[in-house]
Amino acid sequence: ALFPMSSLFSALNPEQLEAVTLPHQPVLVLAGAGSGKTRVLTTRIAHLIQSGQVGPHGILAVTFTNKAAKEMLVRISSMLPINTHGMWIGTFHGLCNRMLRAHYQDAGLPQSFQILDSADQLAVTKRILKSLGADDEKFPARQVQWFINNAKEEGLRASQVETYDDFARKMVEFYLCYEQQCNKEGVVDFAELLLRSYELLTRNEIIREHYGMRFRHILVDEFQDTSRLQYKWLKLLASNRAAVFAVGDDDQSIYAFRGANTGNMKEFERDFRVSKIIKLEQNYRSHGNILDAANALIRNNSGRLGKNLWTSEGHGEPIRVYNAATDFDEAAFIVEEVKSLHAEGVPLSQMALLYRSNAQSRVLEHALFNASLAYRVYGGMRFFERQEIKHALAYLRLIANPDDDNALLRVVNFPTRGIGLRGLEQLQDEAERQGSSLWSAMLGTGKGPDRQKKGIPGFVALIDAMRGACERLPLPEIVEHMLEHSGLTAHYRAEREGADRLENLNELINAAASFVHEAEDDTLVAFLGHASLEAGEHQAGGGQDALQLMTVHSAKGLEFHSVFLSGLEEGLFPHDNSRNEAGGLEEERRLMYVALTRARRRLYLSFAQSRMLHGQTRYNVPSRFLQEIPDRLLKSLQPVQKTVSRNQQRSDSNTELARGMPARGPEGDSAPGWRIGQNVIHAKFGAGVIINCEGRGADARVEVRFGRAGTKWLLLEYAKLIPV
Ligand code: ATP
Ligand code: MG
Repeated sequence: ALFPMSSLFSALNPEQLEAVTLPHQPVLVLAGAGSGKTRVLTTRIAHLIQSGQVGPHGILAVTFTNKAAKEMLVRISSMLPINTHGMWIGTFHGLCNRMLRAHYQDAGLPQSFQILDSADQLAVTKRILKSLGADDEKFPARQVQWFINNAKEEGLRASQVETYDDFARKMVEFYLCYEQQCNKEGVVDFAELLLRSYELLTRNEIIREHYGMRFRHILVDEFQDTSRLQYKWLKLLASNRAAVFAVGDDDQSIYAFRGANTGNMKEFERDFRVSKIIKLEQNYRSHGNILDAANALIRNNSGRLGKNLWTSEGHGEPIRVYNAATDFDEAAFIVEEVKSLHAEGVPLSQMALLYRSNAQSRVLEHALFNASLAYRVYGGMRFFERQEIKHALAYLRLIANPDDDNALLRVVNFPTRGIGLRGLEQLQDEAERQGSSLWSAMLGTGKGPDRQKKGIPGFVALIDAMRGACERLPLPEIVEHMLEHSGLTAHYRAEREGADRLENLNELINAAASFVHEAEDDTLVAFLGHASLEAGEHQAGGGQDALQLMTVHSAKGLEFHSVFLSGLEEGLFPHDNSRNEAGGLEEERRLMYVALTRARRRLYLSFAQSRMLHGQTRYNVPSRFLQEIPDRLLKSLQPVQKTVSRNQQRSDSNTELARGMPARGPEGDSAPGWRIGQNVIHAKFGAGVIINCEGRGADARVEVRFGRAGTKWLLLEYAKLIPV
């Protein structure tokens, strides 16, 4: 039932093939963007399994985002007819979570431990600072949070952090208190997942041996961005037995601010005595002009390991640059281009709109919304971070574990049940005195005639009843029951603008249902873990063809037919902050390199002379990165004359002509198999005749005059024309 080996390898070049088929040994694949690193890694997994060198069970593969992990699983199951459920493929956080769930007792955690996302973590930090009476000018909660995460990233517990001054001693005191609070509630933050899993492996020899025996092959994508602790975790797991296969690109290291450093590559070579380093130099993703731009840009960085990327594809189209007067103008321009590309047949999901900072997405979203273009935002306001979803999850968390203070505080008075702030404060004091959770403290109230605490016995009864009722229900029904009985549904139904929120709540039932369908462990606790880790890459309305919006950071590893990179202004990209940090500018440039290399065929770079950001208008100069791209690769687009009706212009001509683009070069008629004068049929537009051709290969386009639909430019790759 297996595919023949040759079909796995048919689309690999000799270097790629070598990397895929190397025997059991440590390997580093060091190669630039789009050279097939991820493809090699995935194919190697399939090859190892298919050739019987290891079972699916014996593989651990780590990648950077949930989206990438999912794509990897899809690719593997398309190559091999195996069930990928039991495979350890995921993000560092996801895998650590899995390990901690399996060994919660040895890790010192309650079975139903919950995960705090960074907003939750901030809330806990604030509560602690308040209870300690800390001066919030001197010790802003965010800074404390950063301190804690940083210490954890270095593998340090509060008791291990060295202090030299009063300020640091204070910080450590907060950290200690935070640790105790988390332990009391049975919750872990993101950094804790990794640290605790690392400690588990260090301390528990039996578990370490178990995984050491099990994982014969460990494969790591985006290796340049692994942090110190992640690297140490990998090293422990690999012990001396696993063959570690690491792929990375030093030019795409974009998480130095989070503790990642490319030094890991050198260390890896040394620690594992790597004798095989493979370089891939052919880029299969982008056309020549795009690649030349990326190469020219990154050449401005120092201390690179140095790689050359080339492509056998032609130069392709010039990179389009748009100089907008304002951010609104920029957004309008993008909307128009997206529409016309879409009309040519490029699916919306093959177009990405990238920006440096999340705050930039608002104006863009607004314009897209007004133009009724479907879009999906990754990593912005994530599904699981929406207010109504967080409320719902808080109820679910209380059903799983009522000692979860964070969850309790979120919903104890939502929907309102007359529990006053004073009453809560008293409760908190009481909990502190008893060294217990708020829930335990609540169980003791209700006797006195305390007006501030009226409502509490009702809340306790509600949670108890839900816990009882849900004990035997399947997951989606638990969610449904909770929505109904908590009062959330009624609350949002009564709210004026609650329709969206109700829809999202219903989507949560769907999310639970598909979770049951996909996951091995379909308990409520497992679902809650999934919800905390799934960075919203699973938004409501999934499956629909939609334009992809995301920050450059979250675009890593992905590719699109067309990419719009907006906000190319000094201060925005490169970001203001980068000036204060050593190596900050070079990291921004690597980020820019990542952005450029996401595009396969078409790339738009835009900037706005003025922009509203964080409530004020900024006047900007174009980003220095634009100047680092050779002029010969760029084509400057002028705003379309506002006096001409845009719609008119677009429906019967192509945008580029309207902008004075050189439409057809000498290679004008190179679309193979198609000729001017040929009759064709299009699924949507009906019968027509080709009146013009341009471009090659994946870019070949034809202009067709349709009987009913007028004249249109269509991309042959997507238009699926039928010759008649
Ligand atoms: P990044 O650094 O951006 O993560 P990468 O090195 O991981 O890039 P891939 O995403 O694996 O590159 O590959 C880039 C594109 O090139 C993909 O569409 C992939 O399918 C294609 N590709 C890779 N190798 C080949 C090949 N030998 N023949 C044809 N296409 C290939
Ligand atoms: Mg990749």
